[in-house]
Amino acid sequence: MQNILDMNLDQLKAWMVQNGEKAFRAKQIFDWIYNGVFEFSEMNNIPKNLLSTLEKSFRLGLPRTVAKLQSKDDDTYKFLFAYEDGNLIESVVMKYKHGNTICVSTQVGCRMGCKFCASTIEGMIRNLTSGEILAQILKAQNEVGERISNVVLMGSGEPLDNYDNVIKFIRCINMKNGLNIGMRHITLSTCGIVPKINELAKEDFQITLAVSLHAPNDFLRKQVMPIANKYSIKELLGACKEYIEKTNRRVTFEYALVKDFNDSSQLAEELSGALHGLLCHVNLIPVNEIKENELKKSSLENISKFRNILIKNGIETTIRREMGSDINAACGQLRRSYLKS
Ligand code: SAH
Repeated sequence: MQNILDMNLDQLKAWMVQNGEKAFRAKQIFDWIYNGVFEFSEMNNIPKNLLSTLEKSFRLGLPRTVAKLQSKDDDTYKFLFAYEDGNLIESVVMKYKHGNTICVSTQVGCRMGCKFCASTIEGMIRNLTSGEILAQILKAQNEVGERISNVVLMGSGEPLDNYDNVIKFIRCINMKNGLNIGMRHITLSTCGIVPKINELAKEDFQITLAVSLHAPNDFLRKQVMPIANKYSIKELLGACKEYIEKTNRRVTFEYALVKDFNDSSQLAEELSGALHGLLCHVNLIPVNEIKENELKKSSLENISKFRNILIKNGIETTIRREMGSDINAACGQLRRSYLKS
């Protein structure tokens, strides 16, 4: 049976018309769903016979909450969700003064193979559909009891490796009549699949593109990111430049600082040179240490030195606040501990 969450408003309207119903019923049903009502039987402005047709035609495929962890300071929630086929993914909700942000997963596992990342260790199992990604938001809003206003596609998976579903998802959450999450409140993070960045630029979305760079040169980047063997940094930055020209949006570069690997002053200078003149922002992330590899976090001293060099060179730079590290909030670690047990 089809998951109704995989339909967009136009598709559901068309379905209504095909089934001899009024198109506006589609909007009414979406209103219920987007306001957290997940049982057709509770949609009390819908005629009974339509409800029973809906029940026979669709399922409302939400994941089951397997674990809900809350950080000590209550500002981070981590969810382990199980889809109907038993596959597990993680979502994280972070509470900020300016609103709640959710980090959603786009695939079960990942096939990009980045060395520091726990989501990719067992490869990719499958893509998530647009409705399954949407369901993470609906379910998390229900669990937290508050509206989510910002979305980052930074959970497990490579969003641009699941392009069509991800684009459909973004259009869906942006819909005025639905969750109404502004394009500028959406960030898509990619390891850098160049042709897909070019395609994304053509969508003319106003979303923030975040690119996982992690090294200023190909030699170093290849050591931790297999995608670097396919596309050079030159090609990647070229695609970013095009994205900026098309959208006028500032691109974010993510750079996870690993002790004695990519955190020297010399590399900070090299990075400054590579990014010179680009409308961008660098987000430095103290690497999250995982059991499966030997990579260690840079010292606080090196992190701030690195930042200061970038800033001195005119590159806007922030250090990512570490939230929820007491609840394994980063990078697929919770799922892994469940898969093992
Ligand atoms: N596949 C996408 C999005 C998911 S990863 C991408 O590569 O961007 C989200 C971000 O977390 C990426 O910048 C990724 O490089 C980073 N990341 C993964 N594992 C990490 C770790 N152990 N410590 C710090 N950052 C990590």
